[in-house]
Amino acid sequence: MKLLTVLSLLSTSVLTSALHNDLQQPISNDHAFDSGFDDDFDASLAAKSHPKITSEHIPSDPVDSIPPIGFGTWLLKNEDDMQNTTDSVAYALQTGYRHIDCAAAYRNQKWVGKGIKAGLHTAGLERKDIWVTSKLWNDHHGSADPSLVEQEFNETLADLGVGYLDLYLMHWPVGEDPKNHNTSFDYIFTWSRMTKLLDTGRVRYIGISNFAPEELRRLMASSDVKPYAHQFELHPYLQQGWWLAWHKRLGVVVTAYSPLANSNPTYKGRVKEMPPPLLNNTVITEIAKERSCTPAQVALSWNMFRGAVVIPKSKHERYIEENLGSLNCALLYPDYPKIEALGKKYLTRMNNPGEGWGVHLFKGLDGSEQ
Ligand code: NDP
Repeated sequence: MKLLTVLSLLSTSVLTSALHNDLQQPISNDHAFDSGFDDDFDASLAAKSHPKITSEHIPSDPVDSIPPIGFGTWLLKNEDDMQNTTDSVAYALQTGYRHIDCAAAYRNQKWVGKGIKAGLHTAGLERKDIWVTSKLWNDHHGSADPSLVEQEFNETLADLGVGYLDLYLMHWPVGEDPKNHNTSFDYIFTWSRMTKLLDTGRVRYIGISNFAPEELRRLMASSDVKPYAHQFELHPYLQQGWWLAWHKRLGVVVTAYSPLANSNPTYKGRVKEMPPPLLNNTVITEIAKERSCTPAQVALSWNMFRGAVVIPKSKHERYIEENLGSLNCALLYPDYPKIEALGKKYLTRMNNPGEGWGVHLFKGLDGSEQ
């Protein structure tokens, strides 16, 4: 477990370059720049920066950069038994995770906060030793009432019981009026409100989630503050190689959500043609056998190798441990084309609430028409 703890503290770049050295192969085999967007690349966007925030609320030596594996908390509840949420988060920290992914929309942040407190205590850690991300929900974008952004941010800090966040994301590029569900709010205004949060000294970095290419370009062109990270769906059934590479060129970290694809049971029924469960897929199970890993570890290791941060969620101790063990699962070069072929065969986006919200999400990205 000690090795895992050390590995979980490594930055993504250190981890991926170590893996590269092992494999002595270039990172991407998935036509990284094979898209019309290549010609449009605007280097002035990449040159923007995310300011380094120092304040009395942030210790002088917090976690340096986002750890390559975090613990997801969506749907972390057991009906009315929120203790399950607290126990899972505490167990994750005890096991060696140093990064927790939260959101106001998950409606469990108070219990996640208790888990953080308990986990830090048991593991003998301080707040500064872990990375905490949370997200601003659509009904607090604040175009009508600008104070809503800061209001939800403050509630999140209070619920999680932390003095600062490492990263605060705009959950979707969709602002919704809480009264009439009108979705016309412009994320550019929301972003400008979020940049003001940096002035409070209670958040180190801000970022985004679920943006389409043109939305990202427009947001970055509108502001001097570059998003630190972009969190979006990324797994072997939705590989988006060029989109990932695009972020590398921009200098924006990619965090892969639902990294175990259709393992999340919520996606059942949301997708017209659901591919076979990723973790039972013979391509994945055979690679797992050959590399002495589990199928989940193969899926997670594959994503980390490509340079993405992964944030698997589980309420089971054995899975919590197993998923962190992906840091020790080394894939070999021949595994990558096999997984790439899987992505072509079963290309599926699991999470697209656009239709219900009356907006076209993920324009220009794979699987956006489902
Ligand atoms: P994951 O890909 O993490 O899969 C979670 C599911 O897989 C759970 O049902 C879990 O079961 C099961 N599971 C976990 N580990 C294993 C394993 N080793 N073997 C078998 N089954 C396993 O899905 P999520 O959708 O939860 O995504 C991860 C996180 O990403 C979220 O929790 C959230 O923090 C974030 N997210 C962000 C979104 C955004 O819009 N920004 C959208 C979606 C997710 P069990 O819990 O029963 O153990």
